[in-house]
Order: sequence, then structure tokens, then C-alpha cells
Amino acid sequence: MPATEMTTEAMADARRNMEICNGCRYCEGFCAVFPAMQRRREFSGADLDHLANLCHGCQGCFHACQYAPPHPWGINVPQAFAVVRAESYAAHAWPKPMGQVFARNGTLVSLLTAIAVTLVLALAGILQSGDVMLATHTGPGAFFAVIPYGVMVWTASAAFLYALLALAMATASYWRASGGKARPIHIARAIHDAMTLKNLGGGGDGCNYPGEGFSHVRRWLHHAMAYGFLLCFAATSVATIFHHGLGWIAPYSPISLPVLLGTIGGILMLIGTTGLLWLKVLADPAPLARAVLGGEYAMLILLASVAKTGLLLLLLRATPLMGWLLALHLGFVLALFLALPYSKFVHGLFRTAALIRDHGER
Ligand code: SF4
Ligand code: SF4
Repeated sequence: MPATEMTTEAMADARRNMEICNGCRYCEGFCAVFPAMQRRREFSGADLDHLANLCHGCQGCFHACQYAPPHPWGINVPQAFAVVRAESYAAHAWPKPMGQVFARNGTLVSLLTAIAVTLVLALAGILQSGDVMLATHTGPGAFFAVIPYGVMVWTASAAFLYALLALAMATASYWRASGGKARPIHIARAIHDAMTLKNLGGGGDGCNYPGEGFSHVRRWLHHAMAYGFLLCFAATSVATIFHHGLGWIAPYSPISLPVLLGTIGGILMLIGTTGLLWLKVLADPAPLARAVLGGEYAMLILLASVAKTGLLLLLLRATPLMGWLLALHLGFVLALFLALPYSKFVHGLFRTAALIRDHGER
């Protein structure tokens, strides 16, 4: 039976929520979910996956709902959709058996981090003598004096390509199952909505997060984290061109393009992840789904660790701490790549696919 035709307990609950909401329709102007719901009379597994991935958990409908707990109907759309979303990530994971790790996402990310950091530290320790790890290295090739170029590039490239392949396969599987149709105009509009986080703006006042009041804080922190991540990726790409295209060997000057991009990106990522972690601590727990919280915390902590160790490495690269900081930073980066296809990161791709389908339906 296709994944989207299965009915799980979470889907049954989400369907019950949608059937009541479809009779009520009080929240129709809140987000893209309610107009999409109103186009349907029945909710198949694929429909519920689609609606769940359109929802960004702003909690607006929960705080507005007269049927929310303690009302006996217990309507809680953000909570029901958070679980269905996580199930959709698991159902389309590649390779298939890895879907099971979504159920233990927090544990998995922590474990991967520990394994990757230990591996890179051990590799650094085995390949190099203690003297090399604790010496001060400066000038072109300083990083490769600690971790040989081949080890650094091949390990990171293999992990990155695996993450890309797994994410592409999962998104393609989700898109096929959703039955959506894509025209260039729908793709352009969906990318615009995703890049501006349009739906996190609510009706203009922001969303009800972390509490009942309206706020844009989550939207701006999410922007800081996502664009910080993209800037760090751009920094690595520019450094690769410098190395292979121009023969310029790292480390680069503090005012060079890769260092500037990486510094701004790292600071933004650190602000975004730390702020989002703080908002999660403050958030009203009633509309949250406990089952998925562990994974979300773990991914934010991992992203913050990548940013923090990267910035520390930049600050202390001309000191004897550089060797161990480099090993630590690469360990976190490796863990991040390996965990990406089985983490909350998937939501960016699935939500964009849901937005494309939504624009097509409109
Ligand atoms: S969340 Fe509550 S108020 Fe909003 S449409 Fe559903 S039932 Fe109505
Ligand atoms: S939680 Fe927010 S995004 Fe999700 S359905 Fe409710 S209002 Fe829409």
C-alpha cells in the first residue's frame, strides 16, 4: 500500500481536526492551510500530508479556537499536523529503512554528532603526532598541516553528496505521492513564499509564537539561521574555486571573500539557532508535539555547534588551539551532512513542494 494511502493514528486525528475545521471555517484567513482545506470535502492520506506540510506550526489557529482543549473536541491543528509531517518525512526517506530513524531523531542526531566528532578527532590524532596538533601553524596550507587535504576533502565531499542524493530522492518521492503538478509560475511563486517565509508573517502581524501574542521574532530568527547557512555554503564554494581554480591555498585573509561570507554567515546562524532554541523553551507546550521536539532541539544545537566552532576557529587559527578546533569543527560539519536527510531540515524541501502544489491548486 502506498505510504500516502496508509492511515495512522496521527492521520486519523488530523482528519478529525480537518472535518471539524471544515464545518467551522473561522480560521480561513490565517494561513494557506485553511483555503486548501476548503477545496476538499474528504481528506485522503496524500491530502493530509499536503496540508500538514503547508502548516508551519504558527499556533494561530490553536489560540483562536473555541474547540481547543479543554473543550471535549480537543481541536489542536498544529499538534496533529506536526506528527503527520514527521510521518511524511519518514515515509519518503531514502533509503527506505532510514525512515525509522525519524522516530528517534533526537537520539540519532546526538549519536551522529558524537560519532563524527570522535572520528575526526581520532583521525586527526592518529594521522598527526601530538606536536603537530598542538603547534602553531600559519600561512598557506596551515589547515592541511593538521588534517591532510585528501582526508578533509574526500570525507566532506562524500558526506555532502550522500546528503544531496538522499534529500533529492526523498523530495522526489514526496512530490510523486502528492500528485501535484508544477508549472514554472507556481514554482516561482512557491520559491518566493519559501524564501520570504511569507506564511510566517500571518496576516501582517506575525504569528502566535512563542505565546498568544503576535510576533515576527520567529520569522526573523528563521531568516537569520537559513540565510546564515546559505552564506556559509557560499563561503565554502568560493574557497573551493580559490583553491582549485586560482591555486590560492587556505587560510585566507580576514577580508577575503570566503572569510567574510563565512563570518557573516556564522554569526547569523548562531543568532538564529540560539534565538530559535530560546523561543522553543519559552513556547506554550500545549500546541507542540512532544514526539518531534527532541529532533528539533538536537538539529538546532548541531547547527549552533557548527557555527560556534567555525567562528572560534577563525578567531584562534593563529594559536596552538587551531589543530583541535579544526578537527572539532569538521566533526560537527560531518555530523550535520549525515543527519540532514533525516532531520527537520527536510521540512524546507517538503514545504516548498507543498507550496508549489498549493499555487497550482489555486
Ligand atoms: S481551528 Fe478551531 S476555530 Fe479554527 S477553523 Fe478549526 S475548529 Fe474553527
Ligand atoms: S498552526 Fe498556523 S500554519 Fe498551522 S494550520 Fe494553524 S494557523 Fe495555519
